Amino acid sequence: MSSMYCPHCGKLIEEGDIYCRHCGTKISYPGEEEPPKSFEEDPIDQTFSHLKEMQRQSILHKERMMAAKAKQRQHDQETAQQTAQQGGIVLIVFAIYLTIILVVTEIYIH
Ligand SMILES: [Zn+2]
Repeated sequence: MSSMYCPHCGKLIEEGDIYCRHCGTKISYPGEEEPPKSFEEDPIDQTFSHLKEMQRQSILHKERMMAAKAKQRQHDQETAQQTAQQGGIVLIVFAIYLTIILVVTEIYIH
């Protein structure tokens, strides 16, 4: 197995990798859709490596989904906090406004 570098992150990857194991970028090989396979590999080995690759990809995908979900959750929490803060400010302003109206009304009445 010879080595090459990821075109996206520049890290060392194994030739034959479909995706970069560092950043997940799909590695394209010139003139070929499939990564080159060495001739001494027997079909069972290929199937196993294919299954392993698929498993790795699904784990990678899962991890990414979880990261995205965690990010989304964090964002939701921040938004909720902001909304609560804004709500609090609005309430305070409204209370002050009400007090002023009451005071002014009191002054005019008496
Ligand atoms: Zn990469």
